[in-house]
Amino acid sequence: MNILVINCGSSSLKFQLIDAETEKMIAKGICERIGIEGSQIVYSPAGGEKETNVTPMANHTDAIRLVLEALTNEKTGVVKSLDEIGAVGHRIVHGGEKFASSTVINDDVLKAIEECNELAPLHNPANLIGINACKELMPETPMVAVFDTAFHQTMPEKAYLYGLPISYYEKYKVRRYGFHGTSHSYVSKRAAEVLGKNYEDLKIIVCHLGNGASISAVKNGKCVDTSMGLTPLEGLIMGTRSGDIDPAIIEFIAHKENKNIDEVMTILNKKSGVYGMSNDLSSDFRDLEAAYLKGDKYAIATMETFAYKVAKYIGSYVAAMNGVDVICFTAGVGENSPFIREKILNNYLGYLGVKLDDAANNKRGEDIAISTADSATTVMVIPTNEELAIARETYELTK
Ligand code: ADP
Repeated sequence: MNILVINCGSSSLKFQLIDAETEKMIAKGICERIGIEGSQIVYSPAGGEKETNVTPMANHTDAIRLVLEALTNEKTGVVKSLDEIGAVGHRIVHGGEKFASSTVINDDVLKAIEECNELAPLHNPANLIGINACKELMPETPMVAVFDTAFHQTMPEKAYLYGLPISYYEKYKVRRYGFHGTSHSYVSKRAAEVLGKNYEDLKIIVCHLGNGASISAVKNGKCVDTSMGLTPLEGLIMGTRSGDIDPAIIEFIAHKENKNIDEVMTILNKKSGVYGMSNDLSSDFRDLEAAYLKGDKYAIATMETFAYKVAKYIGSYVAAMNGVDVICFTAGVGENSPFIREKILNNYLGYLGVKLDDAANNKRGEDIAISTADSATTVMVIPTNEELAIARETYELTK
């Protein structure tokens, strides 16, 4: 059965068609600048030529129509008709407290997702538009919602409550939710599988370090803590997001720079993180690493602070779980930067008996242990695959 995985943003839409039985990707692509001049679809069938087609897309329904046309195209398509798409899996950013697992989409589910909109105003409305567009074009095809927050719903109260008046939780559900859950779940399970160990017996820390970055503590197969909070702004220093700061800084900067709350929030989301710290040099870790090696003082301070913060979070999750068996690195930076991994592991994690295998640390693109055989804690690189995880969940619920 083929599963179409849709990840719908406000002006973009990523898609993959995956054969759920063989778990092979059949085709993938992205529609960009939806509703904006210069919209285009990039389509890559597995093993075939990548095509870019600049064509107007007034809305997400147009975008999905183009995706379906590309997939069924006589020459370059990968299926004969839409009947060969058995189900659609949608990535949904926020499921609030309502969704602790993936679910088949019906009218009640749509309403419940809509009720989570105010918790993720930039993401959930776009995700819903994607669902409605698919519903219009493939009304008979079952659809599944897979939530970024679901994996973290097992966190105990002590991990998700903030030190705020409890009425804010009771009235507005202000609490830690956590994001990247599909990735944390996939990577932690995969680590156990690669090691040939029982998932339920392990204490695993997953460092998802991409443009957005988060860490989670997974004990006996359940998430017990994670670094992102009510929104994806909390936690680690990210590409352009500040991560944790003293909340009083918001008022301080608003006064000093004569800005309102919305403007300060935009700075925290879009102008901070490694981008802002490096004096606007770049949000891309490749650029920062190159500048670091040339001795750029901002790049050095940025990378050192980033690594220190990751190490501190790892330390706090060792405390949360009273130990750790496996530390995993994943996502753009986690998978591809031996430089950052070495900094975190060699500078700070000696007390966990971590011994880095330098040759393994310099390999790329594999599920691999990068610690030596006598390392007291195992460290791994596990490339994440959120699309495959969404396809698996969708298949499970619709086969
Ligand atoms: P997201 O999905 O959050 O947009 P990704 O997981 O795709 O992010 O990660 C993107 C980031 O990965 C880029 O900003 C870049 O900094 C980083 N990255 C990619 N390749 C490398 C590399 N070879 N070395 C260091 N960083 C890399």
